[in-house]
Amino acid sequence: MTNRPQAADDEPQAADDGPGVGDHGGGVWSIPVPIPDNPLGHTLVHLIETDAGPVLIDTGWDDPASWQALADGLAACGTSVDALHGVVVTHHHPDHHGLSARVREESGAWIAMHPADAAIVRRTRDSDRRQWLGYLAEKLAAAGAPDSHTAPLRTALAQGGSGTLPGARAALPDREIEPNELLALPGRRLRAVWTPGHTPGHVCLHLEEQHPGREGSRDDARERRQEGGEERSLEGSRERQQAGRRGGRLFSGDHLLPTISPHIGLYEDPDSDEITDPLGDYLDSLERIARLRPAEVLPAHQHAFADARARVDELTAHHAERLSDLRALLSDRDLTPWQLAEAMRWNRPWEQIPFGSRNIAVAEAEAHLRHLVELGHAEAVPGSAPVTYRATG
Ligand SMILES: [Zn+2]
Ligand SMILES: [Zn+2]
Repeated sequence: MTNRPQAADDEPQAADDGPGVGDHGGGVWSIPVPIPDNPLGHTLVHLIETDAGPVLIDTGWDDPASWQALADGLAACGTSVDALHGVVVTHHHPDHHGLSARVREESGAWIAMHPADAAIVRRTRDSDRRQWLGYLAEKLAAAGAPDSHTAPLRTALAQGGSGTLPGARAALPDREIEPNELLALPGRRLRAVWTPGHTPGHVCLHLEEQHPGREGSRDDARERRQEGGEERSLEGSRERQQAGRRGGRLFSGDHLLPTISPHIGLYEDPDSDEITDPLGDYLDSLERIARLRPAEVLPAHQHAFADARARVDELTAHHAERLSDLRALLSDRDLTPWQLAEAMRWNRPWEQIPFGSRNIAVAEAEAHLRHLVELGHAEAVPGSAPVTYRATG
């Protein structure tokens, strides 16, 4: 499944059936950390050597077997949990940030995250399940969900519904990731690229160093010539600086995956009335990544790949097609977000989609609706409740 170099034979392998630890060269490794009962299989946690000690990009799911896989993987890279200097988190999801608290506990490593995702971690720790159930039931009803769908939520609320939410024990970060800034990693050039969309504070990390596999290669020389040619034609030092940053390797988190289109829903914030456009953010963020022209992408799931631009073009086309399908549906008749989700194409018939996945599907439908409204291709029908949408233009 991957072309990535494997760890040397005499080194222990991570104890799972998936791919082994990968040595990507130049002091960069990947460690597959299993996600229990999930078709994604594993998170690729990356390890980057620095002059201050090894630093992790993401940590993996909080589960004993996953922790063991991380510890075994670190041993295969010739290090250990207690030697870790820091943790850079691409986004707050539990398959990326789940083990950060334990890593910090056992190593004293700092944890860095974008403030928009840190705010979600803080909110999840502070809110109780009751508040969340109430918010979800209200939001689904407003999107046109039938009573039969929201009934389990209302039952749970009637039964008390107290307690904490999953993620209540997730670590609050010690450091904020500043977009466009180099991280304070001695001996390395790792720059944060803010890529909102999948979550509001998702970041990719751009390793602005020569790709170890391409040093002195013809490709590399050609790229340098191209860069030089472009640089002469660019005006202004900022653009020149950006051109100089191209190439290198990109740790893409969930933003850019080789064959999976990441979930784009809404930025769920019960305390905010702001109308955000996560799909618009995502499409902008994709373009920003393609312009960096990384020589290789190291994603947090699946496997490493080379052509970022081609993958960005595929994802952009996928969303454009989805948007035009939805616009056609809204031209036929006015629809609530729920009805739109029912009418959209999914990987199985709507009747077979379970409760939790339907909620995710409705969020995805709403994200597309928001973007259509933003583009001037749809609008809410005035006075409709639950709100219905129609095509415009
Ligand atoms: Zn994610
Ligand atoms: Zn993920």
